[in-house]
Amino acid sequence: MTVPATGRVVIAGTGIAGATAAETLRKRGFAGEIVLLGADPAPPYRRPMVSKELLAASFPAEKALLRPATAWPELRIDLRTGVRVEAIDPDAARVALDDGTELGYDALLLATGGRPRTLGVPIPGAFTLRDRHDAVALRDVLARPGVEVAVVGGGLIGTEVAASAQAGGARVTILEAGPRLLDRVFPPPVSAALEQVHRARGVAVHTGVAVTGADTVSGCTRLCSADGREWIADAVVVAVGMTPNDEQARAAGLRVEDGIVVDEFCRTSVPGVYAAGDVARFPDPVHVGHVRVEHWNHAQSHGAAAAAAILGEAAPYREVPWCWTTQYGRTVQAAGRPGAGAELIVDGDPGADAFLALTLAGDRLVGAVAAGRPRELRAARTLIGTGAGLSRALLTGPIDLVSVAAAAA
Ligand SMILES: Cc1cc2nc3c(=O)[nH]c(=O)nc-3n(C[C@H](O)[C@H](O)[C@H](O)COP(=O)(O)OP(=O)(O)OC[C@H]3O[C@@H](n4cnc5c(N)ncnc54)[C@H](O)[C@@H]3O)c2cc1C
Repeated sequence: MTVPATGRVVIAGTGIAGATAAETLRKRGFAGEIVLLGADPAPPYRRPMVSKELLAASFPAEKALLRPATAWPELRIDLRTGVRVEAIDPDAARVALDDGTELGYDALLLATGGRPRTLGVPIPGAFTLRDRHDAVALRDVLARPGVEVAVVGGGLIGTEVAASAQAGGARVTILEAGPRLLDRVFPPPVSAALEQVHRARGVAVHTGVAVTGADTVSGCTRLCSADGREWIADAVVVAVGMTPNDEQARAAGLRVEDGIVVDEFCRTSVPGVYAAGDVARFPDPVHVGHVRVEHWNHAQSHGAAAAAAILGEAAPYREVPWCWTTQYGRTVQAAGRPGAGAELIVDGDPGADAFLALTLAGDRLVGAVAAGRPRELRAARTLIGTGAGLSRALLTGPIDLVSVAAAAA
C-alpha cells in the first residue's frame, strides 16, 4: 500500500477516469480521505452523451449523470465541482487550487482529460463539444427550424454531431480534411460505408477541405478553404480532435509527451503522482511503445487501475482498448487498432446493421470493427490481447469469431 490507511488521495478531474478511481478506492476498502476535484461545474456525467442524447432539447440533463447526487457523500467522497487544480508541488505533496486554497496529498491522481483542439484560425461563434454545457449551448441553435450547420472535422465526434443534428431536422454539411470521413478511425471499406450512410440521409460531405478562415456575412458564418471554396452556415461546429490537459503536470516536472507519460501501473515519473484516462500516455498492451487512448471504457478501466495502484494492489494494465459510436440509431464498435494491420477481412456489408471487419498482421488479429455482433467484438478483444495465431480456414466464408477464439484458447 503506497498511501497510508488514513491518508488523503486527491483526484484532479471528475470525468469517468477520476470518478471511477474515487469509487474504486472506496470499494477496495480505502478508509482515508478522497477529494475529487473538477473544473467542470457539473457533477460526473456520461461524456459520450454530449454529442448524442444531450443535443436533443427533450433529453433531461439528469439522465446523463454517472451517479445520483447522493452517491458521492454516501461513499464519503468529497466531490468539489467548479474548482481547478492550478499547480502541483510534488516536493511538498500539495496542489494549489484556483479558489486560492491549497491541499496536501498522500497520493495524487491526474485525470484531467483534454479540451477541444482548435483549428488555428478564428471561426466567429464556432461551437466545440467536450462538456455538458457545450451541448446545452449547441442544442438551442439546433432547435431552430431549418437551421444550417457546418461541421468541421469528420472524425467520431464530428460525424456524431452531424447525425444528431440531421436527426433533429437541421441541414448539415461536413467539411473533412482527409480523403474520407472517419478515415483515421476505421479501415477504408468501413469508413466509406459510414460516409455513405451520412450522404443517404442528405448530409453534404466534402472531403479534402482545409478550412483556412472564416468571417461573418449577414449573421451567418462563411467558411473558406485553401482551394478557394466557400460554405455559409447559421452555425459552425469545430470537431478536430483534442489536446490533453497536461500543462500543470509539465510545469511540475512530470514527464509529458502529448499527455502525461505513465507506466503499466499508472505511475508518472514523479513518485506519489499517478495519471489515467484521456490525459495519460501508457504502455500499449499489444504494440510497442506508449499510446494515448480517447475512449470511454479505457478511461473507466484505467481509472480503476490507478486506484488499485495507489493502494499497491495493481496488476499491470493490459486492457485492449475498444470504443463505440452511435449514429442514426446504429452502433458500431471497434477494438484494438483497426487501421494498423496489413490485411483486412470483411464479413458482411459495413453499411448494413450487422457486419464484422478484422484487421490482421500476419496470422494475428490487431483490430476489429463490428455492428450488431457484440459477442464477436468481445472475442476479438480477447484474441487481440492474447496475440494468438489464427487459422486461415476459420476466417473464410461467414466468420464465427466466438468459435475462432474458443479454438485459439
Ligand atoms: C462529445 C464526446 C463524445 C464521445 N463519445 C464517445 C463514444 O461514443 N464512445 C467512446 O468510447 N468514447 C467517447 N468519447 C470519449 C470519452 O468520453 C472519453 O474518452 C472519456 O470521457 C475520457 O474520460 P477522462 O475522465 O479521462 O477525461 P474527461 O472526461 O475529459 O474528464 C476530465 C475532467 O477533468 C477536468 N479538469 C481538467 N483540468 C483540470 C484541473 N486542472 N483541475 C481539475 N479538473 C480538471 C475537466 O473539466 C473534466 O471534467 C466521447 C468524447 C466526447 C468529448
